[in-house]
Amino acid sequence: MGENKTILRDAAYVIRDSSRIERDSSVAVQGGSIIDLGKTEDLEERHMFDYALDCHGLALMPGLINCHTHVHETMIRGLGHDLPFHDWCDRLVFPVAEAMEEEGDELYYNLAQLTAMEAVASGTTALVEHSVNFAKRHSLTIARALRDLGIRGAVAKGAEDFSVIDRGHVGSTEQQIRETKAFLEKWSHDKPDDLVQAWVGPSGGKRTVGGCTNEALIQLKELADSYDTRYHIHWAGTSQEIENVRRDTGLPGSVAMAEELGILDERTSLAHCIWTVDEEREILRATGAQVVHCPSCNQICAIGVLPLVDLLERGVVCAIGTDGGPQNDSFDMFRDIRQAVLLQRISLMKADAITHAQAFMMATESGAKILGIENLGRIDPGCLADITAVRIDGNPFLTPLYDPLETLVYAGSGGRDVEMTMIDGRVIYRDGEFTTVDSEEVITKVAEASRRIRKEIPL
Ligand SMILES: [Zn+2]
Repeated sequence: MGENKTILRDAAYVIRDSSRIERDSSVAVQGGSIIDLGKTEDLEERHMFDYALDCHGLALMPGLINCHTHVHETMIRGLGHDLPFHDWCDRLVFPVAEAMEEEGDELYYNLAQLTAMEAVASGTTALVEHSVNFAKRHSLTIARALRDLGIRGAVAKGAEDFSVIDRGHVGSTEQQIRETKAFLEKWSHDKPDDLVQAWVGPSGGKRTVGGCTNEALIQLKELADSYDTRYHIHWAGTSQEIENVRRDTGLPGSVAMAEELGILDERTSLAHCIWTVDEEREILRATGAQVVHCPSCNQICAIGVLPLVDLLERGVVCAIGTDGGPQNDSFDMFRDIRQAVLLQRISLMKADAITHAQAFMMATESGAKILGIENLGRIDPGCLADITAVRIDGNPFLTPLYDPLETLVYAGSGGRDVEMTMIDGRVIYRDGEFTTVDSEEVITKVAEASRRIRKEIPL
């Protein structure tokens, strides 16, 4: 271990995970890993540090993990929120996607970096990108953009061999398999590190707006297994989907169908998974398949409320995702942690339905499980050095501060309160500045493209 050692020195708090908080502590990092933590004088006795980052007045916490998003859809942030679902697809989502295709690959690179900038500046250190519809043609570019910025995560390359709205983004089963294989192959050859993983990400099943036939779902799962990688998919997201499955198969729902197809195991994560019956929740538990809860999307798209409390009680791993621009408009995970708590409370009419600590765990340790990284999501020696620092002292929004975690979950705002973000031992963001990207250039290019694209939208 010849790598430099850095001390994150004199933090007011170190939130190690959802149940352990240290006061007046420091954290030692070497290369990409946390190697020690404790009182500053003890650490300085045990180590010779090359660098010191002053963390006076800050709370350090594990970086947040956003387990479902679509970075290209940031182009639709703040547009068309009051349309019914099918109009929204027809008049907004697909026309924007088509106009983006005209702009080409560079726009996808810039949108991926813009979204990752927002994530990093609001305390997120890893994200799962689901590159669906036209964006699946740009999965490699998106993966490069995320890696160049230095954020951890995965790109799940979309696949669609079926759609009720085919605007030219749908291909044959054989083509979807071939293109997904090419992506996995290329990324496994190109990658200089393991920061960004290449996953398989069919958009959904045949019974959603766009997605895959059962044959494609099975073959893509086999492909993911043969590359020893993960499978991420929109599943059981609308009541209509479930009605269609019941009508066509006689099964109780999409999760039961997924089990029959053989696509559920501990390397499959299901975005949304709102509509399930009791026996299907048992299937999730038994197979180890994971759920990504997107609480803002549940509300903005009015598609239902995840039975989160029931799933957590059964021991199903549930993480949190923001989903994309048109289903949230923000990539600030602090908002979605809070939404995850509030949505359960109002739907169950129970003020202690879920605790702030449970929601924080979903956004950290459970997210790490979805990424398949055991030593991530907490601040412990041996864990990866993905650390977010939040301004506590002198911050009127977080004063008074009795319990830093409870206050952050209910009163925190990532974009406002986060002062520093470290990923894999590198400071990617500090005091409003990004260290790996020319943020002004990225913002300008996306804003310019948005003005051209707006003229193409029939709203
Ligand atoms: Zn989604």
